[in-house]
Amino acid sequence: MTGSAAETAPVMETATSWGRTERVVALTLHPVFASELVDRPGAGAMRRLPVGLRRSYGTTVLPEDEVVLDLTGLDRLVAFDPETRILKAGAGLSLDRLMRWSVPRGLFPATVPGTRFVTLGGAVANDVHGKNHASAGSFGRAVTGFTLLRSDRGVVRVDRETEPELFAATVGGLGLTGVILDVSLRLVPISSSDLMVETVPFGDFADFLALSEESLGRFEHSVAWVDCTARGARLGRGLFERADRAETGGLVPHDPGRGVPVPFDAPSMAMSRAAVSAFNRAHYARGRRKAGRVRTPYAAFFHPLDGLRDWNRLYGRNGFRQYQCVVPNEAAEAVAVMLDVVSGSDQGSFLAVLKRFGPIPGEGMLSFPMPGVTLALDFRNDGASTLALLDRLDAIVREARGRLYPAKDGRMSPAMFRAGYPALEDFTRRVDPLCGSRFWRRMTA
Ligand SMILES: Cc1cc2nc3c(=O)[nH]c(=O)nc-3n(C[C@H](O)[C@H](O)[C@H](O)COP(=O)(O)OP(=O)(O)OC[C@H]3O[C@@H](n4cnc5c(N)ncnc54)[C@H](O)[C@@H]3O)c2cc1C
Repeated sequence: MTGSAAETAPVMETATSWGRTERVVALTLHPVFASELVDRPGAGAMRRLPVGLRRSYGTTVLPEDEVVLDLTGLDRLVAFDPETRILKAGAGLSLDRLMRWSVPRGLFPATVPGTRFVTLGGAVANDVHGKNHASAGSFGRAVTGFTLLRSDRGVVRVDRETEPELFAATVGGLGLTGVILDVSLRLVPISSSDLMVETVPFGDFADFLALSEESLGRFEHSVAWVDCTARGARLGRGLFERADRAETGGLVPHDPGRGVPVPFDAPSMAMSRAAVSAFNRAHYARGRRKAGRVRTPYAAFFHPLDGLRDWNRLYGRNGFRQYQCVVPNEAAEAVAVMLDVVSGSDQGSFLAVLKRFGPIPGEGMLSFPMPGVTLALDFRNDGASTLALLDRLDAIVREARGRLYPAKDGRMSPAMFRAGYPALEDFTRRVDPLCGSRFWRRMTA
């Protein structure tokens, strides 16, 4: 991080997000050293959008008129203190690389999202959550500080004590409060790289609620897959997984070579309602047969989709939309209403995930988690009919006083955003005057 190098030249590139619904040609910089950004002549006036590995699904990683700063080149480990277990690393370091370094040393990030191909900067800027939200909270909780490049203040060292507002604005701040150059993060000790995972089939949404209630405090991790094409008496059935670290076993990092690529955009039939329905029935039946407790390597439990590289191509050329909401516990029934709407529509979602968020508050002004139930759904992008379905789901979420996750969004209205995030006004005052994105332009138009 302290080195310097010849300035990297900007290039025109086509940018897209994980959902692949929009493509934008933009000037892009790939710095390898932080000094390339800090000392760059003319950088002071440049509108900018920092990005990581672009595992966000929608418009938060697409520029409007900004230069894209791809920070994945800032990927060095800077320092590690074994006493405090605090690691300092470049903001572009991925959790994939971090874990390959840390697991053999008996250490793990306190929170990992459903893919390991995310950078530290991206994980901070979305305050990402994992399957252990109820016991660990979200990513920002383990962050002890970071270095931020602001267009109006230059380089600022940010932590909870010296810059509490900037800390709270940047955690979950969607890359709008400045460019994160490095992150300091407290790792947690692990005794084994495996988990003991129990799979419990459930018959409907009420069973899911009972299982997640019973698992709170008893298991460190929990998550459920829900069959959202099932109707009638089977509505809301699924497979609940709950897990704890194994107490014995090796400290084996995941194999970086794993992952079968999807070589081309699948034909649109691949994700038709009929195909998804058939897949869901088979997946549920297989889950029922496998029910029980199994020792599972961490990558298979935390990041099952990483085993299929570029799986987003399965949705075809027009891409797909992910929809993730959270509703408070007292309005949890709203999720059953949403499942009913989805199962009655002609759109199927095979990646439908339910999780229970616990009471630990997010530290960011725009942190997504709140105590309650979160539902994430993927839909092939069928244009107007998909948007109409998502509008119907919005109305249910709003009525339930829930919110949508901006990391997954490419279409929510400014009113929906304002309704879900009461600290938005406070946040807006801390936005870097030269940072922006297509998402932010839509929210502030
Ligand atoms: C298969 C899959 C599973 C997922 N599961 C989960 C999950 O379980 N929980 C969850 O919370 N999320 C989940 N996500 C979403 C993903 O974790 C987040 O979108 C994450 O933030 C992506 O990190 P990234 O490095 O790709 O950042 P990007 O997607 O490139 O950027 C994310 C945000 O961070 C900002 N940003 C990136 N780098 C910097 C920087 N250096 N400085 C300032 N701002 C920066 C960007 O402007 C943007 O707003 C999942 C995504 C996929 C594809």
